[in-house]
Amino acid sequence: MHYAKPGTANAIVDFDSHYDNFIGGEWVAPADGEYFDNVSPVDGQVFTKIARSKEADVSRALDAGHEAKAAWAATSVADRSRILNKIADRMEENLETLAVAETWDNGKPVREALAADIPNAIDHFRYFASVIRAQEGGVSQIDEDTVAYHFHEPLGVTGQIIPWNFPLLMMSWKVAPALAAGNCTVLKPAEQTPASINIWLELVHDLLPPGVLNVVQGFGLEAGKPLAQSDKVDKVAFTGETTTGRMIMQYASENIIPVTLELGGKSPNIFFADVMDKDDGFLDKAIEGFVMFALNNGEVCTCPSRALIDESIYDEFMDRALKKVKEIKGGDPLDTNTMIGAQASEEQLEKIISYFDIAEQEGAEVVTGGNRKKYEGEQAEGYYVEPTIFKGNNKMRVFQEEIFGPVVSVTTFKDNDEALEIANDTLYGLGAGVWSRNINTAYRFGRAIQAGRVWTNCFHEYPAHAAFGGYKKSGIGRENHLMMLDHYQQTKNLLVSYSEEPQ
Ligand code: NAD
Repeated sequence: MHYAKPGTANAIVDFDSHYDNFIGGEWVAPADGEYFDNVSPVDGQVFTKIARSKEADVSRALDAGHEAKAAWAATSVADRSRILNKIADRMEENLETLAVAETWDNGKPVREALAADIPNAIDHFRYFASVIRAQEGGVSQIDEDTVAYHFHEPLGVTGQIIPWNFPLLMMSWKVAPALAAGNCTVLKPAEQTPASINIWLELVHDLLPPGVLNVVQGFGLEAGKPLAQSDKVDKVAFTGETTTGRMIMQYASENIIPVTLELGGKSPNIFFADVMDKDDGFLDKAIEGFVMFALNNGEVCTCPSRALIDESIYDEFMDRALKKVKEIKGGDPLDTNTMIGAQASEEQLEKIISYFDIAEQEGAEVVTGGNRKKYEGEQAEGYYVEPTIFKGNNKMRVFQEEIFGPVVSVTTFKDNDEALEIANDTLYGLGAGVWSRNINTAYRFGRAIQAGRVWTNCFHEYPAHAAFGGYKKSGIGRENHLMMLDHYQQTKNLLVSYSEEPQ
């Protein structure tokens, strides 16, 4: 099936010519009246204009959050939960609309937006709608007459800054727990993908009291920095590059407010010799696990961008893997048969291409790909690259730096010690994959790899109830899972004496 291009006949999405910020329950023009062009990576053309916000807009949004926060915090947990569930239902009723909007804004294949991004985003609202109702405080008896009560209280108004690779999913990872926990929020989407969030807001905004959720659009330094630096913000949650995360911490430290950071990665995907023991479903699954470097066009913080393969199976394994990579169908992202779409921005396209040159200079072998992909017709100006495999060693830049494209760097190992050494030889510690029929090997590696998420005999699954986050330079804190609520709440302790005797 092919979805019609937004704004054309039979299209299910029609973007407005421009979008304002969403503040205090209303669409509000940026204070200085400036807008920026938003380009679709699918065809490289401008399709809407977006508010180019500055400090005054951020401040107005934070004020709206503060006006709304007391009433939202006092809203019963059951009512907050009901609202989050209604948001999820509304999203489900409009799943195709959201998926097409996301694809047009970001370039990802619509089949992935339909099957993964939007259902997963919906599930996040349902998950936090549920767990907030099960959350309980604590009571400790200090002595016969003294009791300590522990209550979870919201932080107030949170500032949330998200990247461009999963705009609606990253929104849900941030907004659902913050609102469930009783906070109001100001969200800043990435400037590369600001549009789909507006389609989402149009669908759900009537469900929330004004000021509970505010969206301020714009660039990192102009809108993101004043948000992270404001003395009106009570917590900053950031997802993006490690270098930006460092700055976010510096900004937030000025006001001594908590920060959670979800940053970059260079995830190892390790294939032990026993995956080739039999030509069965397990081997097919492992090959699919290898090919996942191209999922979401490789624009995933946990992209399995380093494949480590036991040298004794390398030739045979790569033969199989290469056949599978050749089956990845590139093309129009709005076609449901397309498996690899457009990279999110021209800047990102250029970054990936620059790594093709770097790989060549470093002497990496090009196993497949390594070129920009050109299409005829509507997509001629879009941002496409070939799925690419390099072979080299872990010291090369293509093994150490985040490329954020459909690119995997492959190397071999001779024994388990070497595999572990290579896996952990990275600044990052976000994700990893371990593929083995031997449960002892899988367990030992799962525990020994320095990463917050180790997939064992699977990859790229993001259930709402599994903790996700980085070791090392990949971040601070966790997202998903009910432990996320801790990052959006503070503990109030009442220490009460029931004694009528003088102390
Ligand atoms: P980025 O750091 O350039 O931008 C992320 C967001 O921060 C954008 O909204 C941007 O406008 C804003 N920003 C940029 N500079 C800022 C500044 N000085 N002050 C405040 N805000 C600023 O990252 P990106 O290129 O949009 O996203 C890709 C990165 O995100 C990759 O490194 C990827 O690994 C990471 N990522 C991590 C996770 C995770 O969960 N760990 C998930 C998705 C993406």
